Amino acid sequence: MQLKINAQDLRSALITNQLKVFLQPKVNLNNYKTIGYEALLRWQHQEHGLISADQWVKIAEEHNIITPVTLWLLEECLKQITKDVQLSINVSVKSLTLDFAIRLMGIVRAYKYPPEHLTLELTETQKIENYTTITGTLSFLRRQKIRISLDDFGTGYNTLKTLAELEVDEIKIDTTLMQSDTVNSNFILGMVVSLAHEINVDVVCEGIETRHLLDKAKELGVVQGQGYLFARPCPIEVSTAHHKQVKKSA
Ligand code: C2E
Ligand code: CA
Ligand code: CA
Repeated sequence: MQLKINAQDLRSALITNQLKVFLQPKVNLNNYKTIGYEALLRWQHQEHGLISADQWVKIAEEHNIITPVTLWLLEECLKQITKDVQLSINVSVKSLTLDFAIRLMGIVRAYKYPPEHLTLELTETQKIENYTTITGTLSFLRRQKIRISLDDFGTGYNTLKTLAELEVDEIKIDTTLMQSDTVNSNFILGMVVSLAHEINVDVVCEGIETRHLLDKAKELGVVQGQGYLFARPCPIEVSTAHHKQVKKSA
């Protein structure tokens, strides 16, 4: 069911700490060790409980709330994770201005976080209109050693054209493409993975829920994955405590 989300409520949610950060591990598919974490936002709503970001990101974009929310999320993560942890955050292409990039780098420096440990997963809820601004911002960020990933690759607007136009370090193959099991979709998946490897772009498979999907990702030669088979997203306090525990006993 699509909830009616109000921009004013969303603004006050940010100020009154109703936004909660969850982390989901990104795993090495050869040894099942955690490579890093993706931060996923939830809104702890008084009436509706936990609301996934995909229900309110569009409203946040339309009312220019998405950039402050993203910078807030980054700062929350850097306050809590240790510097050895690789972090991926979702960034709407709407946020990709030079001003945003400068503020983001300000936060990274303030927390002395290694920029090469931070990946920005670009989510496109609309067609990219202004490639020039985006390309300039992305090349600034890449010069600062920030990694760039194309999220939901193979669906919506994140297509071969985006891969051709923007310099990226990683693509994330969308759950729907992974879970579709037709001869054609499997063929396309194979082509996408080979193409990415050919141009030195890392590949991450999303939505690995079953052993079958894990085997499929491995057969494709993909080394990194995320999904419920390994772990569901957990509140950041729980994930960071678990990470410290694993590190101590290693
Ligand atoms: P996404 O970036 O593609 O994130 C992956 C989504 O798949 C997450 O949903 C995650 O909980 C879910 N997922 C993880 N493993 C599995 C699995 O094995 N099977 C299935 N079926 N799903 C799995 P979530 O947390 O509801 O987030 C939905 C979307 O909201 C995200 O999709 C992302 O596009 C957006 N989003 C989340 N946080 C942020 C944010 O801070 N900023 C922006 N701009 N967008 C965000
Ligand atoms: Ca993502
Ligand atoms: Ca996805």
